[in-house]
Amino acid sequence: PLNTVAVIGLGTMGTGITEVLARAGREVIGIDVCQTAATRAVQALEASTARAVRRERLTEEERSGILTRFRTFTDLRAAADADLVIEVVPESYEIKQQVVRELDGVVRPGTIIATGTNALSVTRLAAESARPERVLGLHFFNPAPAMKLVEIVSSVLTAPAAVAAVTDLAYALGKEPVAVGDRPGFVADGLLFGYLNQAAAMYEAKYASREDIDAAMRLGCGLPMGPLALLDMIGVDTARTVLDAMYAESQDRLHAPAPILKQLSEAGLTGRKAGRGFYTYAEPGSAEVVRDALTPVEDEERARGREV
Ligand code: NAD
Repeated sequence: PLNTVAVIGLGTMGTGITEVLARAGREVIGIDVCQTAATRAVQALEASTARAVRRERLTEEERSGILTRFRTFTDLRAAADADLVIEVVPESYEIKQQVVRELDGVVRPGTIIATGTNALSVTRLAAESARPERVLGLHFFNPAPAMKLVEIVSSVLTAPAAVAAVTDLAYALGKEPVAVGDRPGFVADGLLFGYLNQAAAMYEAKYASREDIDAAMRLGCGLPMGPLALLDMIGVDTARTVLDAMYAESQDRLHAPAPILKQLSEAGLTGRKAGRGFYTYAEPGSAEVVRDALTPVEDEERARGREV
């Protein structure tokens, strides 16, 4: 079984994944080139486990066990004892390729290497490794402690035994794994981002108002949130980056980012976090929509001297 797990990159995903692993009794080696990121990951685990104790979901003893099982380092060589390495460094092929290559000189021959990429080719990364049959994708969703799904991504080079071992681990972590092949965005993001992109394009073409597009999907399809509100929550800039990467891999028109995503990103109207995106919010970080604010398309038209 995969008892010792190294997580490389302690940002948004790495912090969540280390928590899930430590809570499930794994020995966790957290590695980040940035000492501040490593310190923040430890503080995040201290805070979330303290909350769990207050809510009586953990005992003090369990909490201290979790904290002892999580150690952080800034040197990749700390991954030497890992049975499984999960890389969640930034979404750049160059950075991930470098990590995968360096790991060959560090870990044991049997160690499984999992990439947390959203949209880059798992197959291409596997081919960089001296152990392509032990490289696969392990796609958690943000926030990792709360989201049930993990996609386990195989390439044509992946050994079934590696997939089986990681699938067992996913169940042990309390997740619901799905087995998928290697294509940009896999199942969930592949379908979701194509849909979000179409919604942005519909709004941009003034086919319907932002409110009506969102209402149609909430009320007609039973979704908890409309696509433009969801884009604001994900971050318009993040969505654009994901689509750019998916389009670069797939060359599928569905993934070619709608121009409005680029415009909003470049204007700093990145959604809830900025206080403005497709909608305007009471303040940055707030989810409260200011109802009668002008839409980005209206603003642009007004600037050109047109009636809105
Ligand atoms: P992030 O920017 O929050 O964190 C990346 C971390 O990696 C940073 O702390 C950085 O210091 C560190 N890092 C950079 N180079 C490194 C190296 N060579 N060795 C060790 N550490 C290094 O990024 P994130 O949002 O956590 O995303 C990480 C990966 O997970 C990406 O591939 C992303 O596509 C994927 N992903 C992200 C989300 C999400 O919602 N944020 C969801 C699913 C998958």
